[in-house]
Amino acid sequence: MALRFFNTYSREIEEFEPRDAMARPVRMYTCGPTVYSRAHIGNFRAYIFEDLLQRHLELRGYKVHRVMNITDVEDKTIRGAGEAGVPLQKFTEQFKGAFFEDAQTLRIKRADEYPAATDQRYIDRMIEMISALISKRLAYQADDKSVYFRINKFPDYGKLAHFDLTQLQSTGRVKHDEYDKEHIGDFALWKAWDEADGDIKWDSPWGPGRPGWHIECSAMSMALLGDQIDVHCGGVDNIFPHHEAEIAQSEGVTGKKFVRYWLHCAHLLVDGQKMAKSLGNFYTVPDVLAKGYTGRELRYALLRVHYRVPLNFTWEGMNEARESLGRIDEWLARLGELIGTPRRGVRSAQRAEPTSHFEDALDDDLNISAALGFLFESIRETNRAMDQNEMDAASASAWLEWWKRINSVLDLEAETDVSIPEEVAQLAQQRENARREKNWKRSDELRERISALGWEVRDTKDGPKLTRGAGSA
Ligand code: AMP
Ligand code: ZN
Repeated sequence: MALRFFNTYSREIEEFEPRDAMARPVRMYTCGPTVYSRAHIGNFRAYIFEDLLQRHLELRGYKVHRVMNITDVEDKTIRGAGEAGVPLQKFTEQFKGAFFEDAQTLRIKRADEYPAATDQRYIDRMIEMISALISKRLAYQADDKSVYFRINKFPDYGKLAHFDLTQLQSTGRVKHDEYDKEHIGDFALWKAWDEADGDIKWDSPWGPGRPGWHIECSAMSMALLGDQIDVHCGGVDNIFPHHEAEIAQSEGVTGKKFVRYWLHCAHLLVDGQKMAKSLGNFYTVPDVLAKGYTGRELRYALLRVHYRVPLNFTWEGMNEARESLGRIDEWLARLGELIGTPRRGVRSAQRAEPTSHFEDALDDDLNISAALGFLFESIRETNRAMDQNEMDAASASAWLEWWKRINSVLDLEAETDVSIPEEVAQLAQQRENARREKNWKRSDELRERISALGWEVRDTKDGPKLTRGAGSA
């Protein structure tokens, strides 16, 4: 089956046909964090969806060139640095570091590039683009010295959000400092310096100031991926005005179609409301780890629902994630043990064969819920086959190969390098001694003590093996 995605622009499921797929990688731009505070797990739902998309494209044989920007200059970072009394760079540095740490905890694949908006190379590019827009009369400098995009001159404005401009006229809020604009919907490309900005400013043909948030993404995308890209993603809150503005700016400059496929993920909710900094209803990755959960468990919890369906975050959901991963771990351990065991004793050919259902489901607009449904169905069937001694080592290896393939997308395998705590290792040794002495009662007691410490001991033909128990953090 061909890959198909829901394109926000057309509001239709479309077959995926990147430009020059043979000659170059798929060009993918993902709006990154605004580094004024630690990202919350709602933001990470968006980044995990983008990770899933990239990994599935790669599973299907595409090379992907992905850029994720770091928004380190806009209103909130400037305000934060001012309140903390530190230079902007120093203020944003800590949150950039935290972002990379959390992304690693959640096993999000690194992008190829992480351009920062304050990099002079990109500031120059932004200024170039704004100049081009002014010369095409698509932008103008207002009395407040800021430069605005003239939305009335760009007929496609509103096409991504399916927005009627007359609505914007009647319902738009007029901010005190934006009376100078020709149209209420005109957005800032360049914001003239004012005292609140302190020493945060760059020179430009329009006087000192700083770029607007939207032009940052247009310029960095164009600088690193060219005039026309294949995929652009973000959360649904990015559709308007951010991505709408990006289209107007980029297409206004080049006259070419900017993005082929726009993909947006639905929000992570708390009690039915969007998780957001401004609402104070958020958790960060360290908040979740502090409750005893692992990054892998959080990755699973954020990944398991289709990206276009809103997902309510609950602790119960985290426990379900833990349980599901426990089932996967247990299954992998059983398959592993079967490999190398003699074929003798296998009663009949194994019934369940690995299929391509998992990948096929992801081809269908990244239908992860269906894909995971197939995974757990396969686990049930193969466990049954193993229970009935109907699976041989060759089929166990075929299933492990299959897992390896789908895990290149899921990245959900338990850490293999977890070191075994001394106390657990000693208890396991004592249990082994008890078993040798055929003291089954003591052996069972020791197994329970090991289990209480979050570990599981399994007796294999190569001796006892310790794994993190399903109930461990
Ligand atoms: P920001 O740092 O606010 O620019 O947001 C970074 C990314 O997180 C954007 O793609 C947003 O659309 C996305 N985002 C923000 N809040 C949520 C949420 N509650 N659920 C899912 N994605 C979100
Ligand atoms: Zn952006």
